[in-house]
Amino acid sequence: MKTKDEGSLKGRVAIVTGASRGIGRAIAVGLAREGAFLVVNYASKAAAADEVVSEIRAAGGNAVAVQADVGDLAQHERLIAAARDGFGQLDILVNNAAVTKRETFLEATTDGWDRTMDVDLKGVYFLSQAAARLMVAQKSGKIINISSVHDARPMLANSIYNIAKAGLVMLTKSLALELAESGIQVNCVSPGAILTDETRDRLADPAYRAKVLAKIPARRVGEPDDVVGAVLLLASAASNYINGATLYVDGGMLLQ
Ligand code: NAP
Repeated sequence: MKTKDEGSLKGRVAIVTGASRGIGRAIAVGLAREGAFLVVNYASKAAAADEVVSEIRAAGGNAVAVQADVGDLAQHERLIAAARDGFGQLDILVNNAAVTKRETFLEATTDGWDRTMDVDLKGVYFLSQAAARLMVAQKSGKIINISSVHDARPMLANSIYNIAKAGLVMLTKSLALELAESGIQVNCVSPGAILTDETRDRLADPAYRAKVLAKIPARRVGEPDDVVGAVLLLASAASNYINGATLYVDGGMLLQ
């Protein structure tokens, strides 16, 4: 068993947005297990974020919880400062936080559009910009965007989310192209159906679950931990020649 001192990310500093629950939590714990120092971002659930920090510290790691709404650009500096001033650098940014307001196209409102785009796209773009300004000075860095299979295949009655996630794939490619010469890689991980607070209630409905399972060749819904391996690869030196890529972690969902 590897100790933290031998981890592939020993001494690296990472921000994970939306790390208090679900996929973000698993990613934060996974990065910390590899030796990274963590800024655990959350929107409103401070107790959940504190629990993640405690779990990381109990395993011998280092982490701090920082509240910030990534959809509010004025709050980004809090996250950057926690890495830069608290840990001395920023090596990895995982843009995981996202919101979705399921509504049909005919019911969709400008409020839903604005909030989804602010958090899922504009927030990612400008937080990445703030992070990249530090990374360019360091001449290294990894930005990893958590998208969704719905960046490639639309979810019914969730068009704004689909559009935001598709935009995230082009955001990834565009930033990858501009930042490559600075030694920074920007990549995307797109999960399929994963059991989290966001999906738990719907997946508890046997009819809905059966419909979802029928679309997954692996015949199971993923767990947050299923997403961690792809992120660890894209956060480590093993991926230094991978740039602008989107890696689908979906049990084969997009195959059919
Ligand atoms: P989740 O369980 O609902 O957790 C959401 C996390 O994001 C929480 O930590 C929450 O903080 C935080 N958050 C929400 N709005 C935020 C904001 N404005 N600023 C900062 N943090 C915010 O979500 P999830 O299912 O793990 O999804 C994580 C990512 O995976 C998202 O990008 C999602 O689109 C993507 N994804 C999920 C699935 C799936 O099946 N679950 C599939 C494909 C893609 P609080 O705890 O403070 O509320």
